[in-house]
Amino acid sequence: MNAPALLHRRLSTTVHVGPVAIGGGAPVVVQSMTNTDTADVAGTVAQVGALARAGSELVRITVNTPEAARAVPEIRNRLEQMGIMVPLIGDFHYNGHKLLTQTPACAEALAKYRINPGNVGSGEKRDVQFATLIELACQYNKPIRIGVNWGSLDQELLARLMDDNARRPEPHDAKDVMFEALITSALDSAQRAEALGLRHDRIVLSCKLSGVQDLIRVYRDLARRCDYALHLGLTEAGMGSKGIVASTAALAVLMQEGIGDTIRVSLTPEPGGDRTREVVVAQEILQTMGLRAFAPLVTACPGCGRTTSTTFQELAARIQAYVREQMPEWRLHHPGVENMTLAVMGCVVNGPGESKHANLGISLPGTGESPVAPVYIDGEKAVTLRGERIAEEFQAIVDDYVRRRYPAPGA
Ligand code: SF4
Repeated sequence: MNAPALLHRRLSTTVHVGPVAIGGGAPVVVQSMTNTDTADVAGTVAQVGALARAGSELVRITVNTPEAARAVPEIRNRLEQMGIMVPLIGDFHYNGHKLLTQTPACAEALAKYRINPGNVGSGEKRDVQFATLIELACQYNKPIRIGVNWGSLDQELLARLMDDNARRPEPHDAKDVMFEALITSALDSAQRAEALGLRHDRIVLSCKLSGVQDLIRVYRDLARRCDYALHLGLTEAGMGSKGIVASTAALAVLMQEGIGDTIRVSLTPEPGGDRTREVVVAQEILQTMGLRAFAPLVTACPGCGRTTSTTFQELAARIQAYVREQMPEWRLHHPGVENMTLAVMGCVVNGPGESKHANLGISLPGTGESPVAPVYIDGEKAVTLRGERIAEEFQAIVDDYVRRRYPAPGA
């Protein structure tokens, strides 16, 4: 990991979720969430497997019905039979106290429980049901995330803070009161959990909103007021580029300030789209910020009037896809390969220069240039490719470089 020198991580308490450490200076953890019906064991196993293979280090699943709760141990077993040990987090709303009580095997199989204080219950039931959830976390020795969401904020707490605010000589803006309610809900719930016997290092907090500036403001305040490990995410980020840009804008500002111990990018998949996209985006945010490395990244120029064919775009896409496909095997046999850099450039204007800065770079011919593609290895021009098989030959050069530069341990 090569964190930027300017970045100082907020000192948070370490929370262990199965074998994964969150907070306390540990690398920022990537997590994701399934969108299958958890009662559908085969579908959920397949999606958790895909998310884990894409690099998700924790996977959250909805546990909303007795059928879903009964499916959890079977999901855990099947994943382990497939060699997929990723910790599973149960997402509970309204009936978590019942489901965990009635299904001990589910309580045991999950590595962490996510509790939304706004959805635990109302009135007198609220405290009793919250206490039951905490007692179960203590009994099964599991950490919890107290996950506050502005879409399901504790309405009794909000009403109380609004009333208090109305009595002030100079009332605060209603939005400020709502932000305070989010943070108070998280901190009061954590305090109550500790009073009920849950250890301080068994608690992760989150306060999610869907506005970038709102999220940054709330997390800065939350980070200042406690040392709990923080889960970071922009809720309901949206689809496609909007979701990616909004999440990146919010998470990057906070992580640059050292805030955030685990992240999720809440992308809405296109119909039939790939759920693993949210994992790749989370990894790319961390990697482009220099916080972690997951897979070699390809630098490519945007192209311009000097490129009249799509050759270099196709090569850039092909190489990026290729290195991602190879990573499960490379990660095992070529340690350090995730730090490799590649450049695929469209013409001689910036091509050779950018190629020299990468471990491996190729500069394709632009319009009117002689049809050759010089390849640079560790800053030196190594070979010039030409003809119809430039892509295949460059891929072979990548394979050869990986074998030589990142040899298998003991090789
Ligand atoms: S490297 Fe060449 S093709 Fe790529 S953007 Fe620059 S001038 Fe255009």
